[in-house]
Amino acid sequence: MRKEISIYVHIPFCEHKCAYCAFNSFCATQQEKENYLKLLCGEIAEKSKQFSNKYVVKTIYIGGGTPSVLSCEQISEVVRAIYDNFDVYDNAEFTIEANPHSISEEKLKCWKSLRVNRVSVGVQTLSDKNLSKIGRLHTSKMAIEKIKLVRKYFANVSCDLLVGLEGEDGKTLCKHAKQLLELGIKHISCYFLEIYQNTPIFDMIQNKKYLPLGDEEQVAAFNKLANYLKDAGLERYEISNFAYPQFESKHNSNYWARGEYVGFGLSAHSFLNGKRFWNADNIDDYKNGVTTSEELSLTEEDEEKIMLGLRCNLGVDVKSLKKIDLNKNPYFQDYLKQGILTQEGGLVKLNPMFYQMSNTIISNLFEDK
Ligand code: SF4
Repeated sequence: MRKEISIYVHIPFCEHKCAYCAFNSFCATQQEKENYLKLLCGEIAEKSKQFSNKYVVKTIYIGGGTPSVLSCEQISEVVRAIYDNFDVYDNAEFTIEANPHSISEEKLKCWKSLRVNRVSVGVQTLSDKNLSKIGRLHTSKMAIEKIKLVRKYFANVSCDLLVGLEGEDGKTLCKHAKQLLELGIKHISCYFLEIYQNTPIFDMIQNKKYLPLGDEEQVAAFNKLANYLKDAGLERYEISNFAYPQFESKHNSNYWARGEYVGFGLSAHSFLNGKRFWNADNIDDYKNGVTTSEELSLTEEDEEKIMLGLRCNLGVDVKSLKKIDLNKNPYFQDYLKQGILTQEGGLVKLNPMFYQMSNTIISNLFEDK
């Protein structure tokens, strides 16, 4: 029987670097893009040989960076390389990430013809003041217009929102979420604004030119948004992800379930046969096929299962743990008694009401006594 696998493809290009961005993404010339795509398609063809008939692809995710900066010809080249070299289920979930500024009707038609069936739009906020301050190229009006256009071609659309932007309390976030849901969005990912040194926003904050929400305000805003989305009928199926039934991201759920996946492109990660490895994060090393790998010890593997499983609705199958015995952990029974954790059969889950405390709960579960 063939094993199922997910494919991730990294497109590292962006039209412009956002003020808060610490991802591996950059602006590139057409020539640099062409050179990269050639390497990428070569990597897909080469690596696919080890999979031959043993695997079938259940999800494809083209992320970045901003994949929507690629032209129809360029993205078609990448998708062709995947379909020429892998067996893909007819009903495979196929997601592409897009930014409002680079979405066009021509590209949407092209993605549709390439069997893309899910679009994840980087909205971040519908406040024009914040969009401009954090260096996004689109306005709220453009975001709304482009989402309407995406919806014309795709039923399964997700949007990203940032939590913690200047002046955006829970009420504002709920207002933005409402606007997006009214456009027929089926999935919302909400991420806390993280501030990294060596990003423009770090200096803006140091110079008091930007005032993000404080930690407590961020958590309060997130909780208000989470309650709003719950009332609107979306399930919080992972700590940062909310979806209407049947619209959960299958690709990301595969990561959280520790399913196998292969990544192509700069800094892309793979997980196969219990081994994790990833490509170099700079073009020169990537060109030379440099990869790094790690093999987790049995305890580390258990810790990863607990960490991933408790942060989403999949939970942790205690029978799958090889070294950690949760019953020996003093916090475990307490958490069950308090309803923070639930246990049904061998499956332990974290009550979503306590997702915000997940870091503390999980680290307590790793303690021996
Ligand atoms: S669009 Fe995304 S990846 Fe690109 S610079 Fe902005 S935050 Fe970074």
